[in-house]
Amino acid sequence: MKAVVLTGIRQMEMRDVPAPKIKKGNEVLLKIERVGVCGSDVHYYETGRIGSQIVEYPFIMGHECSATVEAAGKCVRRVGAGEQVVVDPAAWCGKCDQCLAGRENTCRNLKFLGTPKEGNGCLCEYIVMPEESCFPTNGRISL
Ligand SMILES: [Zn+2]
Ligand SMILES: [Zn+2]
Repeated sequence: MKAVVLTGIRQMEMRDVPAPKIKKGNEVLLKIERVGVCGSDVHYYETGRIGSQIVEYPFIMGHECSATVEAAGKCVRRVGAGEQVVVDPAAWCGKCDQCLAGRENTCRNLKFLGTPKEGNGCLCEYIVMPEESCFPTNGRISL
């Protein structure tokens, strides 16, 4: 698939990279439709870091996106193929004390889309996210 890859400070390239695959039953393969550019992306682009979060190149930025569901894992109930969704970039583990207490936003193993050391982002054609991160638009927003 095509991805826009950050290769250095103020350097980006369009590259062919392997497309992600569904590995767990609760995961969804998403075809990216739109990507927002956040202030944090601008920091990564201009300085290669935000405080202690330092980019290791090559890195795919982007954590604000809408998408169409391309395929869904075996256990997915929340969305189905062809459905349009907006994506919560924070994927939580569901197992730590914070998650079990209903505070998924402070998950100790949080993986945030497009964040150094946590995961590549969505400035590309496809990403895989847990179904819990996918919110159907039910046609209310045109992607
Ligand atoms: Zn943002
Ligand atoms: Zn957790």
